[in-house]
Amino acid sequence: EILQHGGRNERKIRVFCRIRPVNRSEATQGGAVVVDKLDDYSVTVETPRGPREFQFDKVLGAEASQEDLLMQSVIDGYNVCIFAYGQTGSGKTFTMVGDKDQKNPGIMPRSFNAIFDIMRENSSKSDFKVSTYMLELYNDRLQDLFVSQAGEAHAQTQPHSPTRRVEIKRNRKGVVFAQGAETKDASSAQELYALFQQACANRHISATMNVESSRSHLIVGIMVESKNLANGSVNTGKLSLVDLAGSERAAKTGAKDHQLKEANSINKSLSALGDVISALSAELPHVPYRNSKYATRVKAITNNAQRNVDSREVAQLKEVIVKLKSGQTV
Ligand code: ADP
Ligand code: MG
Repeated sequence: EILQHGGRNERKIRVFCRIRPVNRSEATQGGAVVVDKLDDYSVTVETPRGPREFQFDKVLGAEASQEDLLMQSVIDGYNVCIFAYGQTGSGKTFTMVGDKDQKNPGIMPRSFNAIFDIMRENSSKSDFKVSTYMLELYNDRLQDLFVSQAGEAHAQTQPHSPTRRVEIKRNRKGVVFAQGAETKDASSAQELYALFQQACANRHISATMNVESSRSHLIVGIMVESKNLANGSVNTGKLSLVDLAGSERAAKTGAKDHQLKEANSINKSLSALGDVISALSAELPHVPYRNSKYATRVKAITNNAQRNVDSREVAQLKEVIVKLKSGQTV
């Protein structure tokens, strides 16, 4: 409802497609271009069974600049979530974060500036306070990126190590938040960006895959509290910016062991996300927002033998599932 000018219609979910340019190695290997922009709202994709057409709220071609990408949604309001979905190499990080040397900053750093610009424009009407958390979801675990993971690599493999837990919770007003995540205040776009750089430095890097951070989801939450100077009323909005892990299937990547575990949990969380989006776009009465965790528990039971889950835990999980199925809260 806040997204007013970003696309053709004003549904709650907008899907934009960005086509990235062919890169040098693709060009030298003589790769064929299989995605083509038809018009501002549709693309064709060459498939083994012939061309297929897909519709979007907006299509941005390879010539689209990073500037074009900073959607009006960020400018218009704060209660927005923007995320990038696609397989590794399709341009998610470029779009959300930017290139390595930040010659072409992406939506995240640009929106930091946009937020503070809007606040400056409205400073005669309201007092603003900006705070942020930055998280990584890796193997079904939320990691606080304000906490250095240097010493945590080992702790990862120790099931009982006392690492700090971040959990998704919902408060009485129905607002979802990340409990246990460190929240930092920022008084300028530069300060926010410095926090962002610090967070990025704390992300997981898989040495074997050699693709930085493509196996985890990056989640940036920016809370903006505005106090109306005339009547003292306070409003809080949140902008969520997410760079998702690659959507490719485990089987295709030839992943082994821990990589397979990664790929499985990535696929699970992405398919749970898919279910949420389908439910929202079909306007179903029940939206399975919390399915990712539920799916994980079910999976833990079915994989009991392989995963070495102890039997008491399995019994507890079964109880939880029976309760969930009968509509009780657990
Ligand atoms: P992903 O995060 O989806 O795995 P990346 O964002 O890392 O993909 O993009 C893969 C490569 O393509 C990177 O080298 C990136 O700089 C480049 N790239 C992606 N999108 C664009 C674009 N729109 N313009 C120019 N280069 C791009
Ligand atoms: Mg990436």
